[in-house]
Amino acid sequence: MVGEELPIHAVSAGIVSALKKCNRLILTAETGSGKSTQVPQLILDQCQAAGEILVLQPRRIAARLLAMRVAQERGSDVGQDVGYQVRFENKASKRTRIRYITDGLLLPKLLEDPELTGVAAIVFDEFHERNLNSELCLAHIIHNQSIGIRRDLKLVVMSATLELGRLSKFLAPCTHINADGRLHPVAIEYAGASCGRSIAPVWERAASAFKQSQKSGFSGNTLIFMPGVFEIHQCIRSLESLKETRAYRVLPLHGSLSPEQQDEATSNVGGRKIIVATNVAETSITIDGISLVIDGGQAKLAKFDSNRGINTLLIEPISQAAADQRAGRAGRTQAGRCVRLWSEAEHRARSVHSTPEIQRVDLSEKILVLLAAGQSNFEAFSWYEAPANEAITAALMLLAQLGAIDAHKRITKIGLQMARLPLHPRYARILVGHQNKKLLAALTWVAAMSQERWPYHPISKGEHALPTTASFDTDLNEQSDFFVQIRALELAKNCHFELGKCRQCGIHAAAARQITRIREQLLHLLEISPESIPRRVDFSELGRAMTQSILLGFSDYLARRSESGTLRYRLLNGRTGRLRKTSQLRAPFIVVADQAELNRGQELSLELSMATVVELEFLEKEFPLDFNRETVTVYDSRLRRVEQQERIQFRNMTLSQSSTVPTDLDCAASLLAEQVLVGHLKLKHWDAAVERYLRRINFMAQHCPEVGIDAIDAPGKRLILEQICYGAMDYKSIKNRPVLSFFQDWIRPEQQYYLDCYAPESLVLPRRKRPLKIRYEVDGRAIISSRLQDFHALKHQDLLLANGAIRPVVELLAPNNRAVHITDDIDGFWSGAYRSIRKELAGRYPKHDWPY
Ligand code: ADP
Ligand code: MG
Repeated sequence: MVGEELPIHAVSAGIVSALKKCNRLILTAETGSGKSTQVPQLILDQCQAAGEILVLQPRRIAARLLAMRVAQERGSDVGQDVGYQVRFENKASKRTRIRYITDGLLLPKLLEDPELTGVAAIVFDEFHERNLNSELCLAHIIHNQSIGIRRDLKLVVMSATLELGRLSKFLAPCTHINADGRLHPVAIEYAGASCGRSIAPVWERAASAFKQSQKSGFSGNTLIFMPGVFEIHQCIRSLESLKETRAYRVLPLHGSLSPEQQDEATSNVGGRKIIVATNVAETSITIDGISLVIDGGQAKLAKFDSNRGINTLLIEPISQAAADQRAGRAGRTQAGRCVRLWSEAEHRARSVHSTPEIQRVDLSEKILVLLAAGQSNFEAFSWYEAPANEAITAALMLLAQLGAIDAHKRITKIGLQMARLPLHPRYARILVGHQNKKLLAALTWVAAMSQERWPYHPISKGEHALPTTASFDTDLNEQSDFFVQIRALELAKNCHFELGKCRQCGIHAAAARQITRIREQLLHLLEISPESIPRRVDFSELGRAMTQSILLGFSDYLARRSESGTLRYRLLNGRTGRLRKTSQLRAPFIVVADQAELNRGQELSLELSMATVVELEFLEKEFPLDFNRETVTVYDSRLRRVEQQERIQFRNMTLSQSSTVPTDLDCAASLLAEQVLVGHLKLKHWDAAVERYLRRINFMAQHCPEVGIDAIDAPGKRLILEQICYGAMDYKSIKNRPVLSFFQDWIRPEQQYYLDCYAPESLVLPRRKRPLKIRYEVDGRAIISSRLQDFHALKHQDLLLANGAIRPVVELLAPNNRAVHITDDIDGFWSGAYRSIRKELAGRYPKHDWPY
């Protein structure tokens, strides 16, 4: 029973005949044309659909409200021939023919039953939103049809705005129908400058835009778009302080309100109103009688940064397409106005379309489901639009870490169990592999919470609004933030989610109720009957096992406190974040279940929350391959000391490090020797005498191999140094150690005799008072240097070294100690060069004796 004529009705004959002809239809029409409410009814009533019609919705709130509206139009109750199904809630029966269903539910259904038994048609609503689930489902169905499965299934893809090219190609052969006509024009105004843009927060600018509108005589219902719940509340506060809003009711509208609160905002009873909404009101739901839209121009956008492996939740400017959708909300029943709180120039600079979800979110949950369905070649998968390779890689890495896939990317037993749970793989992992039902029942609380907002929000650390309960030891609060939440949930359940009592304790009653329901569904999925769980679960007893299980899902979110007494933690990926102040955890190691990059004023900051204490012992037990305990002896150049450091590493993070006195004396000696060798440490007794001795040894090794002395090469030197340093730990104790004696030990005593004969320290020259020191060079030469007269009458024979094998190089010095001749042929000198040299020297130094 349809009361008014809608644009869709003008094309209904075309829709019916197209669907009869080719089963695939693209339908474009403006918001409010009747797509979501009328098309499913058309298929049911006029296409003789033999089976159920599933209408995919991106949002729970829309699924519920549409089912209510259509049931009402058909004069029945929800759950009869019109029903809805959202995650963890099913309001449909065997009689249901039109089922509004959130898009996340279809994929598992499709994989379980590719034939989609009992389904006649699937309507993809709001396809322009480019939701991951819708795209994956459509791709899967098209793939199945291409191999002959369910070619008779009717597919309708609907959208308010559409990039037709890609979609027509993807669905070919298909029909496209457009229903013309926005009902009323909407005048767009840009209030970028006039509301004091850059200074005032968005909610204040929205309130002042509303005030302006009242001055210009406007008096209809108003819809204001804010990015999030916080901004909605601020905006309501700003509005309520204006006298211009006295004639209005100001109501919030967002996804985490109770159904009753949502209905209050969307129903058309109760006089004039201002609805302050997130972008749940952007398309799918109808709010009657809106003729003014004030658009803050921002939305909170969940994104996954696959490089850093974190989710971000940032407020970002919406696209031009989204802004047009919002504006369209004002033209439903009469000519309307839309005030945009930004400038026209800024508008033109905005991106035309929003980024599809597949390009911005964490894909691990979907990839796991596809793997469970036997799909593993993600390059060949018929994506509607393929995601970035990095995103797939990041998803596979996470799944591998969770044990859901093996080294060959094949799904494991654990992975299959995980895929059956409608949870993010991290939370699914927490629940699988437990025999202990009591534990499992307790853990379902943790998993259920992942589907909702956290139920309990303490305002500050000191605030312990939660009364204690019998099953809880308050110590548990310091073990995991989850425990605090679970306690809140227990309390809320015990007081039957009574709003007042919950509020008193800082508990969000609607969220608590929803989580409790979700948990019941999870228990059902895990085949745990409610009777088998003891009425009171003793968490104190289960606490440790629970923290361990939580760790399994989040080991890569391990964080180490940067400094004790602070809330700053360093994560495995090297980033630093701050634990939420309200956490009661004060531990050196935690894993966090939630980390979000937020804009705080101008800055981005990483906020860590829902933390759980990590015991290293357990970490080591569960992740032996990632764990490394090593003892290293190292030289500390600052203290000039050798230390033994014990290091515990988890993946690439050093968990702890302690230094003790080294036990490995060889290693300590070697480290100190190394420092001496490279010249960082100097030994007092490593003097010229030591160098000379070393060169004599090497001279012998080179020229008298028959004696069997080994050269002291670089390794030899190191060996001697290590002996010198043995037993010492620091520079202080080696600094004054003897050196020469260690070099002397290089050779045996009898070799010492040959050393003294063949490579003596000095030579005795008959004409010289004191013995003449021999300079042994690194290159193996020996040099002697003395006054010319000292060599007089000496021959080769008298000077030979190395058992007669080597003639030294002779430097003959003038009285001024300058060399006048250098030679290794002293015999030749006397008979040759000496003559002319003598003449010259005799001339210069006539008082000296210059024998012939
Ligand atoms: P579309 O999906 O094209 O945006 P809908 O099918 O949701 O349009 O809505 C079509 C029309 O039905 C709306 O313009 C409105 O007149 C009416 N309508 C839909 N839902 C409601 C509702 N909950 N309350 C009042 N009217 C509604
Ligand atoms: Mg719609």
